[in-house]
Amino acid sequence: MPKPDSPRVFCVANQKGGVGKTTTTVNIGVALALGGLKVLVIDLDPQGNASTALGVERTVGTPSIYDVLLGEIDIDDAVQTCPDAPNLKCVPATLDLAGAEIELVSLVARESRLRAALDPARGNYDYVLIDCPPSLGLLTVNAMVATSEVLIPIQCEYYALEGLGQLLRNIEMVRKHLNPTLDLSTILLTMYDGRTKLADQVAEEVRTHFGESVLTSVIPRSVKVSEAPGFSQSVLTYDPGSRGALSYLEAAREIADRGVKES
Ligand code: ATP
Ligand code: MG
Repeated sequence: MPKPDSPRVFCVANQKGGVGKTTTTVNIGVALALGGLKVLVIDLDPQGNASTALGVERTVGTPSIYDVLLGEIDIDDAVQTCPDAPNLKCVPATLDLAGAEIELVSLVARESRLRAALDPARGNYDYVLIDCPPSLGLLTVNAMVATSEVLIPIQCEYYALEGLGQLLRNIEMVRKHLNPTLDLSTILLTMYDGRTKLADQVAEEVRTHFGESVLTSVIPRSVKVSEAPGFSQSVLTYDPGSRGALSYLEAAREIADRGVKES
């Protein structure tokens, strides 16, 4: 896959829970890494689902994004290599991170701690993907300040668009006050069920509203995609020929292609 001219940093965000943020971060990350690019996944969700799916250590005491945010260690000291792909690195989230939303409040530069931590390391990667928790709190704000691009996964279901207005207002607010170059560059439709009319309606509505930023590739609802994390794997390694794997591969290629054209 084509290397971007400069490192691209994405925050994968949607305050709605269970829409495919983690699944997208993990599978796009693995796809880009298998495509020969250097990728860093930052798990910024105390649930630690991305760390689990990527098969990296996340027991309490493991150097993690929590220690990085508190300024106790350099980000490089928390980086682990994913067993599935040597090109793919991950900074895990441990349970400590659950307290970070509150602990960060009293720290200086609380909104830009992740950016400061990431700055010296960003040049080592082609892509950095940050998996956000399902909230618009300080962790997500830190991700939006640290990145240049937002990737929003949208589930092709009823209520999918609910709450999106709030998310867009938050992006606007971060852009205005903290990170003027933040761009909502990418929207990915997930858990698409071709048998339902509803999925088509949601997809159409999203495309009408967001136009070019919506990737042409759509991720189908597929059991293989949901099974893979149980084996500490991405769907690309768990079942490379499955529809889920192929669609994530296609979406990753689209993202990588856009990175070259737009720069
Ligand atoms: P949270 O808000 O809790 O962090 P999330 O937005 O990160 O959730 P995921 O954890 O990626 O969402 O996905 C939610 C659930 O849906 C998981 O059990 C996942 O395995 C499943 N899932 C995600 N994508 C698909 C898909 N394309 N097909 C089938 N199941 C999927
Ligand atoms: Mg998640």
